[in-house]
Order: sequence, then structure tokens, then C-alpha cells
Amino acid sequence: MTYSVEPIGFVRSCFKEKFAIPRQPQLAPTARGVLELVPPFDQGDAVQGLEQVSHVWLLFVFHQALEDKPRLKVRPPRLGGNKSMGVFATRATHRPNGIGQSVVRLEKVEAGKLWLSGIDLLDGTPVLDIKPYVPYADSLPHARNDMASSAPVAIAVEWADAALVQAHSHATRLAEPLVALIEQCLAQDPRPAYQVPTPAREYGVRFWDVDVRWHYPRPDTLRVLEVVAAEP
Ligand code: SAM
Repeated sequence: MTYSVEPIGFVRSCFKEKFAIPRQPQLAPTARGVLELVPPFDQGDAVQGLEQVSHVWLLFVFHQALEDKPRLKVRPPRLGGNKSMGVFATRATHRPNGIGQSVVRLEKVEAGKLWLSGIDLLDGTPVLDIKPYVPYADSLPHARNDMASSAPVAIAVEWADAALVQAHSHATRLAEPLVALIEQCLAQDPRPAYQVPTPAREYGVRFWDVDVRWHYPRPDTLRVLEVVAAEP
């Protein structure tokens, strides 16, 4: 039996590539985006009442991780990428039906547009449904997950002086909290756990329309080297 679903909208996100997106929502509270609803959901009626809600669940498609052959086991980055687990024990992107779910902050509601923060979604992500977060039912303080019992340990983020000046200047131009976004995302240490980088090895990612470059001067410290306008 098959069912068909269609997106009710698409996310325009600060994240232009999968690399360096936090592994879950809320890890980077300054990660922002807009969910643009498509007809007929772009009318005010569809979102009436949502202004009473601080957070929403988004159900979405991992559109850049879809696969024809379902996997039964995956290697979650959380476990270092070298230990496999049943796909249903994880929040891996490669999963049957490719459906993701995230609780995100709802900053502002308008007909056809929801302003969001704390997102972990790639630019262009198709959204299948929106549901209000219901604290009494959705928050379970005594729930247990021995594989991921707390947020990942953050790494120290340092700035080269020039990079910090560049980041502040792009933040002003974009009217976005870019410095905090870079710090919050890079503190999650996006590099694969199995890589032990030399100080000479540089990494890069695009947030909004800027390219950010960094390296690891010491294994426990990440240093931002450059924040420059991306090539169009
Ligand atoms: N909170 C969601 C969940 O639990 O279903 C997503 C968790 S998943 C581990 C988070 C990762 O999904 C991010 O680090 C990012 O690299 C990836 N991701 C986000 N949007 C995506 C998309 N549209 N297609 C493929 N991968 C995506």
C-alpha cells in the first residue's frame, strides 16, 4: 500500500549545506529561517490561532538524503560514526520514508509565512505538516535515552581578529545574529568524529550568503579564520 504526501511549504534557512547544521533543533537558538507556505495553505485561515503558540513541530522530508533502498542499520555521528544501530533507534537522516521532525521556536506568524528559530533544517527543506507544541503532552522530563542522554559536549570557539570584524560587518548587512550563529554551530564541532585534524587542515561552510573558514589549532579548540561573502 502506498500513500502520497505533498509539501505544505518550504523552509528558507540560514543553512545552505548539510555540513555544520546542528544535529538537533535548539542547539543553535540563532539559527533562523522562514517557512513559506504554498497554496492553498498560504492563506491566513490556515495559520489562524498559531500566534498563541511559542513552538511548533515540523514534519519534513530529508530531501537531500533520500535513498531507494531502506537501511536497517545506520552509523549515527553521535556514536562516533563507527558503531551501527537499528535505524529506528536513531534520528538518522537516512531512514524509511525520509521523514524528519523538529521542535522549533515560532517567532512570528503571517499569512503564508512562519518565522522560525532554533532550526536544524537545510535551505529548501519540504515541510509536510506543522503541529503546535503542547508542553503538557510533549515535555517528558523523566524520559530516558541512554544513547543521547544530554546535548553533545561543545568545543571552544576562538576568533582571528579580522574574522570577527568581518562577521560583525556581515551581521549588520544581513540584520542577523551571525556571530552567535557561527559560534553556536561551530561549537557543535561539525567535523566527523574520526577525523583528527592537523592545524594546517582548514574546513569551511556557508551560512546565509557568507563562507566561513576555520581550523583546529589544538584538538579541543576551533578557530574561525575568515568570514567572507560567498561567490554568487
Ligand atoms: N530533528 C530532526 C529529526 O530528529 O528528525 C533532524 C535530525 S538529523 C540528525 C539533523 C541533520 O539533518 C542535520 O545535521 C542536517 O545535516 C540534516 N538535514 C537537515 N535538513 C536536511 C534535508 N532537507 N535533507 C537532508 N539532510 C538534512
